[in-house]
Amino acid sequence: MEPLLKVTGLQKHFPIRKGLLQRQTGAVKAVDGLDFEVYPGETLGVVGESGCGKSTMGRLITRLLEPTGGKIEFQGTDISHLGVSGMRPLRRDVQMIFQDPYGSLNPRHTVGSIVSAPFKLQGVEPEGGVKKEVQRLLSLVGLNPEHYNRYPHEFSGGQRQRIGIARALALKPKLVVADEPVSALDVSIQAQVVNLLDDLQDELGLTYVFIAHDLSVVRHVSDRIAVMYLGKIVELADRKSLYESPMHPYTRALMSAVPIPDPRRKGVKSERILLQGDVPSPIAPPPGCRFHTRCWKATDLCRTQEPPLLELRPGQRVACHHPENAEGLTIPEPRESV
Ligand code: SF4
Ligand code: MG
Repeated sequence: MEPLLKVTGLQKHFPIRKGLLQRQTGAVKAVDGLDFEVYPGETLGVVGESGCGKSTMGRLITRLLEPTGGKIEFQGTDISHLGVSGMRPLRRDVQMIFQDPYGSLNPRHTVGSIVSAPFKLQGVEPEGGVKKEVQRLLSLVGLNPEHYNRYPHEFSGGQRQRIGIARALALKPKLVVADEPVSALDVSIQAQVVNLLDDLQDELGLTYVFIAHDLSVVRHVSDRIAVMYLGKIVELADRKSLYESPMHPYTRALMSAVPIPDPRRKGVKSERILLQGDVPSPIAPPPGCRFHTRCWKATDLCRTQEPPLLELRPGQRVACHHPENAEGLTIPEPRESV
């Protein structure tokens, strides 16, 4: 199957400028070489601590940001550097749901005008008229279609996120990038919104990139999961492999923070791993493996040579010199650095 989205060597460095002449003195390497694909109909979960570059990645693949390196292909077309007019058709196909349902809805606009804004932007006249289509979208996301004349403050947090979802679906997109869509919501509401997204996926054949800061949120909805650390993917695997036999030490540490419903589940090491220290600065990431300053398995090799992301088991890619759960596997020798 051809991927809907293919990302190769994706990079976003934000220059840091100082002084009167605004000379560049360095760069924040927010996203520093990502390779992954997203297949039609799947959900790719993307997980990592704040500052790992996952939101920047989301803004790159929706082209709200332009990459400083690498390539983004959507349905086989290179969209990495398209300008406003080149991006216009893509704006229909790729939509984003934002983290903050409060900040992302204009408080002075009615729900009707918020949800119908994409029609105006794209010059689309929905069949049956705008009002009817807005009402259809509101019922689709579980809101009362008669409430199109209300304002965002009249809704709860969960309902506001439903409004954001209705707006994102207005143009019938193929790919929806959801950037921490539930992390601003009460825990009791989170599952409802996640389940709604899951139901909408089945109903509308959507493809998701679902960004979250911990593994518990994406657990039930992701087909595959990418774990990010300091601008890189350290592990990418199908859900079962990732949860049952995580291979990157960082994944294992994140996993150990997720409550395990069945402690008898085989292969899951359940002791809590508390990572020492903070995430290093993305301005000057550590040499070698970026995780070595916090990894309990780090060796001299880790401190000097960056481990490439390699497929160590079918469907499981890992960037680590000494992976976990690797019994019986041959780990390729590190290549000479060039
Ligand atoms: Fe830890 Fe070394 Fe693997 Fe990095 S490469 S995660 S430092 S064992
Ligand atoms: Mg699903």
